[in-house]
Amino acid sequence: MQAIGNFIAGRIVEPAGGRYLDNVDPATGKTYSQVPHSDARDVQAAVEAAREAFPAWAAAPAEQRSAILLRIADLIERSLEQFAMAECIDNGKPLTRCRTVDIPRAIKNFRFFATAILHARSDLHATDREALNYTLRQPRGVCGLISPWNLPLYLLTWKVAPALATGNTAVAKPSEITPMTAHLLAQVCVEAGLPAGVLNIVHGEGPTAGAALVAHPQVSTISFTGGTQTGAEVARVAAPMFKKLSLELGGKNPNVVFADADIEQALSVSVQAAFANQGQICLCGSRLLVERSIFDDFVGRFVEKTRALTVGDPLDASTDQGAMVSKVQWMKTQNCVSLARDEGGAVRCGGRLPETMSERCAQGYFYMPTAITGLGVDCRTNQEEIFGPVVTLIPFDDERQAVELANATEYGLSASVWTRSLNRAHRVAERIEAGVVWVNCWLLRDLRTPFGGMKRSGVGREGGEEALRFFTEAKNVCVKLPGEQQGANL
Ligand code: NAD
Repeated sequence: MQAIGNFIAGRIVEPAGGRYLDNVDPATGKTYSQVPHSDARDVQAAVEAAREAFPAWAAAPAEQRSAILLRIADLIERSLEQFAMAECIDNGKPLTRCRTVDIPRAIKNFRFFATAILHARSDLHATDREALNYTLRQPRGVCGLISPWNLPLYLLTWKVAPALATGNTAVAKPSEITPMTAHLLAQVCVEAGLPAGVLNIVHGEGPTAGAALVAHPQVSTISFTGGTQTGAEVARVAAPMFKKLSLELGGKNPNVVFADADIEQALSVSVQAAFANQGQICLCGSRLLVERSIFDDFVGRFVEKTRALTVGDPLDASTDQGAMVSKVQWMKTQNCVSLARDEGGAVRCGGRLPETMSERCAQGYFYMPTAITGLGVDCRTNQEEIFGPVVTLIPFDDERQAVELANATEYGLSASVWTRSLNRAHRVAERIEAGVVWVNCWLLRDLRTPFGGMKRSGVGREGGEEALRFFTEAKNVCVKLPGEQQGANL
């Protein structure tokens, strides 16, 4: 069975303790590879390698760093099929999605930040005729990059690309549940000529490898994407060490449909927003709020469209819904649906395992896309993130109530608003407590825009300028112009 290794100082190496974790193909339920069960020793070696590589990488001209990152993008693109297949088997998501969304986005992440640094500008503040203040943006050193399993290479490279582009070195800790494309990335980095130690990858569990990375005194910057509870633990350790911290956490996102919307479009995108990637996207619209005058009709048509989704083998081109990522996530979803039933919810479709699966997938973690009505906003089903193919539909009476319901959770990651009224769109977008609001669309991403959450969905923003700022230290240099000093202007 294939055992993947850590990537430290430019080499694929075994974990110091020689221990491995099983890596399961969720579509079959079978272990198919082994992933290092790394500990603090592996993190130490990786941080040392990253520290050693830092001065030369930070001093390299932007054009040189850019060229290497562009080569990485080209090499991923050349092996797109291999990367897509690896992601599909590791995660259970449809191969088609890996080919058209996950891997292309990883390529874009590298290209975007590799070229962004060629166009970066800095500020200058002229203090009358007395002084010039210019801002240096310097790399911060070794960055710890921790990512989840739902969009494995997509989210890992969303951190790696800006961290490296701005001249930092990094130790990445991908999810132990989906390590395979990170392993392929390591091989690509070698081929692209990335100097040894600039990117290191330590595999393993959060409480061991991840925690050691967060606690390491030489890691000055932590970019974390994952669950809200884990984010709190990361902050608890990192904050007293004065680390720069970005937290991209969970969501319970409202998708608000007004009666004046283009209903056809709202319907088909809402189905995608609820169930894409088996409902395992932090941005999924898991609470569908629909104006009461169209509620019954909307629910009926939503259920019809949901029933038309094909749950099947992720390798099959006709599959809309693949396997859930793990047995744990699969069981959690089942428990959440049974809780929803206990809370009085009516399961309108799904709420069960598929009846027939191919022989290959008979032991896989598949679940039917599920729509639930009849629940108030305060129940656990409507408050807690499920992170599976489950959506609730809730009616509202007017705009005021729509906003109130949209904001009635502790999360604040994203929202969608469907209306033909421009005025209403602006009003509601302004009032919704979320880091990202889509109007008449969902998951339309421009990599230049700020991305992140409010409330318990996170702290800080990624994307474009925000990422370039996060991964650099702003230093003001004040240069006195010729002439007498007028006095210290405190
Ligand atoms: P998770 O919090 O369990 O794990 C995320 C990563 O953190 C993994 O690599 C894990 O090994 C590591 N980790 C776990 N405990 C740790 C610790 N004590 N110290 C350091 N690292 C630790 O999350 P998950 O189950 O992998 O992912 C699902 C969650 O991620 C959902 O809540 C989802 O909403 C969230 N998510 C958020 C975004 C966003 O951009 N806001 C994007 C994708 C996923």
